[in-house]
Amino acid sequence: MIPALKIVNLNKKFANDVHALKAVDLQVESGEFFSILGPNGAGKSTLINIAAQVVKKSSGLVEVFGHSIDDFPQQAKLLLGYTPQEIALDSFFSVREVLINHSGYYGFSANLEWIDHLLEQLHLSTYANRNSKELSGGMKRRLTIAKALVHRPKLLILDEPTAGVDVSLRHSLWKFIRELHQSGTTIILTTHYIEEAQKLADRVAIIRDGEIIACDNTQQLLKLFGSRRFEFNLSKEIAMPDTLGPLTFSEDRLMVSGEYRSESAKSLFGWLSDNSHLVADVRIESEQLEDVFLKLTEKS
Ligand code: ADP
Repeated sequence: MIPALKIVNLNKKFANDVHALKAVDLQVESGEFFSILGPNGAGKSTLINIAAQVVKKSSGLVEVFGHSIDDFPQQAKLLLGYTPQEIALDSFFSVREVLINHSGYYGFSANLEWIDHLLEQLHLSTYANRNSKELSGGMKRRLTIAKALVHRPKLLILDEPTAGVDVSLRHSLWKFIRELHQSGTTIILTTHYIEEAQKLADRVAIIRDGEIIACDNTQQLLKLFGSRRFEFNLSKEIAMPDTLGPLTFSEDRLMVSGEYRSESAKSLFGWLSDNSHLVADVRIESEQLEDVFLKLTEKS
């Protein structure tokens, strides 16, 4: 199948000599929910702005569903919807007019039904005739998403869609994006909310200083780089076997913690069952993508 986005050896050097992207290779398959994670300044926006053709690349290949942005820029644009991080809305127009005008840029003139559907899905129907400058920050963000979808793109790229958005709106946006994905739209999401990537994405690329330093299925990344800790509350001090790894004891030696490693899990559980009457409480943390992210993006 033709990938939704194919990037080969992509480089971007800005006029100020910042090398924002260094030989980036990335492929997002059709139908995937993909996330790009990285600290501030890593190059996420530059990468997706190039795919959306709002920033010019220095060199490399970018294809949207097989259409190179050099040879078939219009076709590539039609297949892709994009919400930038900065919200820019024309404040002279009503919410519905903003969407009608934006449809016009793509050559769509009679898609009012679709526009009304988007307004409803994004809980904006009651504001359809209001001037867009009257909207709250969260509503403006939803309108930007509606704008990105007016031409029914097969690939939707969202740059930090939930930045600065309250918890309940974040959850309703997640629901909307999930449903869009289930109905067949390929989604690429940049975020610095690791929880968001872990919850939504099938695959994650981690970018640091303009380079992709890891790209894998979320579960695989957790398995490769994640770590878990265990903690036992003991009813009396007990001798611990070396196989449990380096251990940290509390001052009264009644609480012990260490790193839970899959290689030694068998000996850990064996020891636990042998000593269960002496162990008052057990806690094993679940692996978090945040740990992987911090481990990989920390500068040595
Ligand atoms: P992110 O989205 O991961 O926060 P960006 O892609 O915005 O990162 O930025 C990557 C690097 O490129 C940063 O060092 C940033 O300062 C630089 N940069 C971004 N846009 C420009 C620009 N228009 N001119 C010069 N440097 C830029």
